[in-house]
Amino acid sequence: MRRFIRFILNALPRPLLQRAAGWAVPLLGLVYVGRGRECPLCGTRRRRFLPYGYVTPREDALCPRCLALERHRLLWLYIERETRLAAERPRLLHVAPEAALMRRFRRLYGDVPERYVTADLESPLADMHFDIQHIPLADASFDAVICNHIMEHVEDDRQAMRELYRILRAGGWGIVLSPVDLSRAATFEDDTVTDRDERTRLFGQYDHRRVYGRDYASRLAEAGFDVEDRDYAAEFTAAERTLYALPADHIFIVRKPVNRS
Ligand SMILES: [Zn+2]
Repeated sequence: MRRFIRFILNALPRPLLQRAAGWAVPLLGLVYVGRGRECPLCGTRRRRFLPYGYVTPREDALCPRCLALERHRLLWLYIERETRLAAERPRLLHVAPEAALMRRFRRLYGDVPERYVTADLESPLADMHFDIQHIPLADASFDAVICNHIMEHVEDDRQAMRELYRILRAGGWGIVLSPVDLSRAATFEDDTVTDRDERTRLFGQYDHRRVYGRDYASRLAEAGFDVEDRDYAAEFTAAERTLYALPADHIFIVRKPVNRS
């Protein structure tokens, strides 16, 4: 199954994959009838999740119904259990919205849709289109921001982090996730490498500009944020980690201090 998924992902053009995912993935999911896994985003139960990944497919990754991945499940559980987002529905900016999360947020903000704004460089699914290094939004115009797997692609990530800080109100919070290699002390970046294969080898993906190390949190803090680096999956029982097939990724929560502008 892993080899089959990798073949499909690499052989077919992306727009076709995105169109086919709606019916093909649920169909594949039927192979996994059972109750050993539960998707916290859509409630689907299966024996296992589907394998997923371009370079090396990971087992137990993709929800066959809502297409959520491991990190989406962890993030959703965090939002549900650790924040007051569902009750308060803060003005939320969701950058590069992940489809599975976006569907949940759209439902949650159903009667106050103007408080949930999605933004992307080009995705037609997003409300706004901009480069995160220059956000065309007023200072302090949002209460919360979610921005995942963007910083490793951006040329000047520090500038992007300052922009997120600027558009948040004092006391606002956000979740800003990127792949972090915890075995590295310092972030590795080298803009002189332009060869696609070499970039894939060094950075894990051809369009990544860096691999963050354990200093990821301090880079976010440079922008002015108070940063909480939380090994959230470790707070679950082993049974829950298996049930939701959670990744070991840390969650980075940023807060804009109340006493600073
Ligand atoms: Zn799901």
